[in-house]
Amino acid sequence: MQTNLAEFVRETEQGREADRILRSCVHCGFCTATCPTYQLLGDELDGPRGRIYQIKMVLEGTRPTSGIQRHLDRCLTCLNCETTCPSGVEYGRLLDIGRDLVEAEVPRPLGQRWLRWLLRQVLPYPRRVALPLRLAQLLRPMLPGALRRKVPPRQHVVAAPRHDHARTMLILDGCVQPLMTPRTNSVMAGVLDRLGVSVIQAKGAGCCGALSHHLSAGEEAKAFMRHNIDAWWPHIENGAEAIIVTASGCGALVKEYGHHLRDDPAYAGKATRVAALAKDLAEVITPADLHDLTRHGPRRIAFHAPCTLQHAQKLGGVVERLLTQAGFELVPVTDPHLCCGSAGTYSLLQADLSVRLLQRKLEALQAAGPELIATANIGCQLQLQSQAKVPVVHWIELFSPSAPS
Ligand code: SF4
Ligand code: SF4
Repeated sequence: MQTNLAEFVRETEQGREADRILRSCVHCGFCTATCPTYQLLGDELDGPRGRIYQIKMVLEGTRPTSGIQRHLDRCLTCLNCETTCPSGVEYGRLLDIGRDLVEAEVPRPLGQRWLRWLLRQVLPYPRRVALPLRLAQLLRPMLPGALRRKVPPRQHVVAAPRHDHARTMLILDGCVQPLMTPRTNSVMAGVLDRLGVSVIQAKGAGCCGALSHHLSAGEEAKAFMRHNIDAWWPHIENGAEAIIVTASGCGALVKEYGHHLRDDPAYAGKATRVAALAKDLAEVITPADLHDLTRHGPRRIAFHAPCTLQHAQKLGGVVERLLTQAGFELVPVTDPHLCCGSAGTYSLLQADLSVRLLQRKLEALQAAGPELIATANIGCQLQLQSQAKVPVVHWIELFSPSAPS
């Protein structure tokens, strides 16, 4: 694609990166066919190629409009288009640049600004979420059906006894996961203990920064990243082998810390090291480890591969292979590449599209009558369980005696 970037951005680092990405696109449109928002809305401007054109227009000097902002907002950042693209176009990076430019020029209506601000002020901080969540869980039985399904039931966790091992790995607890699905990391710690690894929860580590990043609050996201690096660094110097992330959405961003902090002389090197150490749980547990683990719960399951696992981290098929080797029967799921509509805060900010994607996804997951749905990201888990007819768990729970039967 030929480009002619406007003066205001041509010589900036952002501009050079955007120019390189735009030039790699041959506007073939293959990506459009697999884009969930294009499939729902049928509008080229709500597909990846259309969004690339709109970002190109802004970079070439067209004044951004609320219309362009709306089309970029509707993007799930699922990166399905990157998986489909034969030319290796880094759409996600281009979208970040486009969103930042549009956000700086197009004021949002007051309601939107307030909601986005509120989400950033509450969700990354477990203490601010804890009280309203506990209240909602207490009132859950009395809530009307639609609302009740949105409140995850309280999980009770009994931590298994652990041993001190020479091998250590850090874990990222994240922000809402310890409150909403604490069983995931508790089971993970028990499993790793059986495999001879002690897990470390670094004091002070918290939100990975993804929420702020996706709401175009780049500096706030970087502050979360630096905070986590400071918390992890002493343990890394002490020999921690990896930083395990059980939420693939958070893992995708931690793996990009080096990119986001590349211009920060105090953190660039550490961020690159942290990114290299970040691993999804499925990268840590090998097929050989399965001999030491016991399968629990139902056998016939449907697996939902989060977009952040298969498209962002490029780990499609890894969990499925582990589960199959462990003896689970994975039922066929049509269109496994498509998003469930969770996508961070998307389910709150684009509720209508999100619900339509959820309903399609659940039809596909439940068509073959599985006893349970397994996934690899808390956002997907909460989204799916809000309307699923069968239990929805993180896949590691299938190796715990507390797995739903
Ligand atoms: S992003 Fe890739 S698939 Fe989409 S139009 Fe450009 S080259 Fe084609
Ligand atoms: S990231 Fe997902 S929703 Fe956005 S353009 Fe690509 S395929 Fe479509």
